Amino acid sequence: MRTLEEAAAEAATCTRCRLAEGRTQVVYGVGDPDADLMFIGEGPGYHEDKQGVPFVGAAGQLLNQMLSEVGVPRDDVYISNVVLCRPPGNRDPLEDEIQACKPWLDERIAIIEPVVIVTLGNWATRFVLGPRVSISRVRGQRFPWNGRTVIPTFHPAAILHGGGQGSPQMAALRQDFEEIRRALDERPEPAEEQLGLF
Ligand code: URA
Repeated sequence: MRTLEEAAAEAATCTRCRLAEGRTQVVYGVGDPDADLMFIGEGPGYHEDKQGVPFVGAAGQLLNQMLSEVGVPRDDVYISNVVLCRPPGNRDPLEDEIQACKPWLDERIAIIEPVVIVTLGNWATRFVLGPRVSISRVRGQRFPWNGRTVIPTFHPAAILHGGGQGSPQMAALRQDFEEIRRALDERPEPAEEQLGLF
């Protein structure tokens, strides 16, 4: 399998969907290529499109805060999105755009091999758990998926646009990050994983 860098270099010139026309650049992902914990958001916003890095705007600040509250360094995780290019005016990604981008996301997951995947908001959660899933029903639960654990939670932008730091959604987000921390703590030691292969 090729490396994340090789995949990102090819993705940088992707024209598989109409989002290529409006982007400043492809926002492939950021973080540890060997991360045990991977976050999947929706799509790049204004700042991400300009800087080429996911979750650098206000939603990214809240994601950083949550990571720091549960003691997980941002450098230890991998952060990425369902679509690699900014939808115009920050609209939701369309189904054909998500499908066009799917091979890129499937490949990222295959290369990184995260133990825990956190889906942020409805779009990323539906990508993994199916089109009819609603985030408020499934958030904070662990779902087995292709040998990994998926934990959906609210999108940080939804908290910012909703009640903010004092809201019930924020309390729920906190609970979910505690659960993410527990799932990470319970992951098998690398030696145990290897033994399991024999
Ligand atoms: N929202 C997302 O879903 N992804 C980003 O990268 C930034 C904001």
